[in-house]
Amino acid sequence: MPLRHDAPDTVNGRPAGGSFWFTTGNPGPRRTPLRGRHRADVAVIGAGFTGLWTALALLESDPSLRVVVLEAAVVGHGASGRNGGFCASSLTHGLQNGLLHFPEEVDLLEAEGVRNLAELVSFVRSEGIDAELEETGTLDAAVAPHHVGELEAYAELADRHGVPVQLLSRDEMQAAVHSPTFLAGIRGGAERNVMVNPAKLAWGLAAAAERRGAHIHEGSRVTGLRRRAGAVDVVVDGGGVVTASQVLVGTSAYSAWMARLTTAFVPIYDYVLMTEPLTDAQRDAIGWEGREGLGDAGHQFHYSRWSADNRILWGGYDAIYHPGNAVVPAHDRRDATFETLARQFTETFPQLRGIRFSHAWGGAIDTTTRFTVSFGEALGGRVHYALGYTGLGVGSSRWAAGVLRDRVLRPDSELLRLRFTNSRPMPIPPEPVRTPAVEMMRRAVIAQDANEGRGGWFVRAMDAIGIGFDS
Ligand SMILES: Cc1cc2nc3c(=O)[nH]c(=O)nc-3n(C[C@H](O)[C@H](O)[C@H](O)COP(=O)(O)OP(=O)(O)OC[C@H]3O[C@@H](n4cnc5c(N)ncnc54)[C@H](O)[C@@H]3O)c2cc1C
Repeated sequence: MPLRHDAPDTVNGRPAGGSFWFTTGNPGPRRTPLRGRHRADVAVIGAGFTGLWTALALLESDPSLRVVVLEAAVVGHGASGRNGGFCASSLTHGLQNGLLHFPEEVDLLEAEGVRNLAELVSFVRSEGIDAELEETGTLDAAVAPHHVGELEAYAELADRHGVPVQLLSRDEMQAAVHSPTFLAGIRGGAERNVMVNPAKLAWGLAAAAERRGAHIHEGSRVTGLRRRAGAVDVVVDGGGVVTASQVLVGTSAYSAWMARLTTAFVPIYDYVLMTEPLTDAQRDAIGWEGREGLGDAGHQFHYSRWSADNRILWGGYDAIYHPGNAVVPAHDRRDATFETLARQFTETFPQLRGIRFSHAWGGAIDTTTRFTVSFGEALGGRVHYALGYTGLGVGSSRWAAGVLRDRVLRPDSELLRLRFTNSRPMPIPPEPVRTPAVEMMRRAVIAQDANEGRGGWFVRAMDAIGIGFDS
């Protein structure tokens, strides 16, 4: 039987895709679609975190620029308004993935990430953005016996790279969060993870960009880019055109509209449940007073957190590819995954058996073979893009925006000399190979969790060519 919930498809006439976050506040004025011909120094495509931080970075560097942001739907409509709100410092999708792909740069990237997160927190506070930001840090739980050794090994690795973490025994972990499934844990500090309400953050960033002079147009889907002398025509569905000297693209998992990006990523859907607010008795029953961002150590992992009004968000586990790179509203719901998540929630918190889920939704993740953001260009260097956060872009999108800004305003920037920013991940074959290849990877990851973390031949072959699976 499908899970019952009352997650809305629209809130105040705006598409919401079922996301709880869209119901939590005021998105600000409706921005008009772009019509007619316009000029800009820089056109930014997409008003998620990447596009909004990019507009801010450009205008903070040069307030005289004319920056036009074009958004197909509404501010924060994509992954930025639907995610778990874990705002992490890591730029590399974790230390281990960083070591796998960028061993020579990982310590520098760790430091850059910590600096970026501190600046993000300070910006949110100084702009007075009500993003429900909580400096909680994280807890990662071992939920299978082999995870305990994995967490111990991770703690040693973290120590070698100056990443402060604290190992927790079974008793300590269960004292922090009362779940019978937790066998050990690792605590990470607030300098490496804070929690946000992501939709409120996106709305606040849009307002901050507009205060600095950005022109944001909603309902303005870009359908193509045309090169012209010394500029690019950005063509918008419905008749608008922006002629811009530079174009910066932040359309993430929706980027198949740019043909050259289709092999750069796979859109993988991730799904989330939100409970109703817990009563005081229910809260006492699970502890979790530190309100940390909570995850587990499986390859198919769960993530969980409190909302400001004391609901619990519970997401992850399934990772679903819809053939043909489809990212459409029909995929915002997936009853089979919602049922699985609900069952696993009750196994984790049996004290909460019977609690109702008020919201259930999904969103597409721009997955790459390196699991990290990557950058590239088109049309002779007039168009630059950033995508590929693979589910960890809330914090790192701000750093990536700085790189996009540097690509057009600061060509001497040291960031542009990093292999992290100037090399690209292995491409992913198009259909008809893509669907069976992604399914094969998915099955391999499931088998790995079932096999005490050991990968089969497929995982080992992928590891050997540098395609990591660790989440
Ligand atoms: C369910 C879920 C949970 C997640 N949890 C976390 C988490 O806890 N922590 C974390 O760090 N990351 C998480 N992520 C990932 C994170 O949300 C993303 O990495 C991040 O939001 C990417 O931001 P973005 O601006 O690049 O992309 P998006 O937010 O997807 O923005 C792209 C925008 O471009 C617009 N667009 C698309 N095509 C066009 C076009 N042709 N013309 C104009 N506009 C266009 C879209 O409408 C959209 O608004 C999660 C993602 C999902 C889906």
